[in-house]
Amino acid sequence: MTDSFRWRRPVLKFGTSTLTGGTAQLSLGRLADLVEQVAALQMAGVQPIVVSSGAITVGRQRLGSPRDRKDVSFRQILAAVGQSRLMHLYDEFFEFHGITSAQVLVTRADLAERQRYLNARNTLLGLCARGVIPIVNENDVVASEEIKVGDNDTLSALVANLVDADLLVLVSDTPGLYTADPLVDARAELVHDVASITPQVEAYASGSSSGLGTGGMSTKVSAAK
Ligand code: GLU
Repeated sequence: MTDSFRWRRPVLKFGTSTLTGGTAQLSLGRLADLVEQVAALQMAGVQPIVVSSGAITVGRQRLGSPRDRKDVSFRQILAAVGQSRLMHLYDEFFEFHGITSAQVLVTRADLAERQRYLNARNTLLGLCARGVIPIVNENDVVASEEIKVGDNDTLSALVANLVDADLLVLVSDTPGLYTADPLVDARAELVHDVASITPQVEAYASGSSSGLGTGGMSTKVSAAK
């Protein structure tokens, strides 16, 4: 993969479904595999920035709490428990490759106000320049409805702009965009290339969600837009 990788500063987004393999548990094998690929990029001279979900799912796993409890204050508790565990694992796995990683938590408000935007940008670029891999997530613990981005597809698009990324990769457990949700419509066909985000493309993606993370194909299409 690295031989032909011509991007300089890609933002790579790993969603909850990717990290859990569609289950309710974080898959250490998947995480190790993703980290290995990011490490290979970094060693090839690329400056990857990771946007990772999974905090709420890992928190739920650790507290053994039911999947149907979704109120905001409880999700904030889960995020607080899960984020530190998730980050610990990233840190250990990157350390195995001799690479340092760093936690960067932001909310929409941090990206909307100029000084905070510049602080976030300078920190991220400073980390990249030192060969440290930033692991970005939304600061769910403090993000209320008014100030939160809400899903990491959108957050990763904002981060890509923030750091002048030349590529945004939304890693997914589905092969791509379909003409309808393939989980509910057997006639759905894979769309191989999308040159621009037309109303038709948005209609294809509407309403699809894995039910695990917050996003789905519609937030991916809107992040691309
Ligand atoms: N920030 C959430 C988490 O870490 C994920 C949001 C999303 O699924 O897009 O659990």
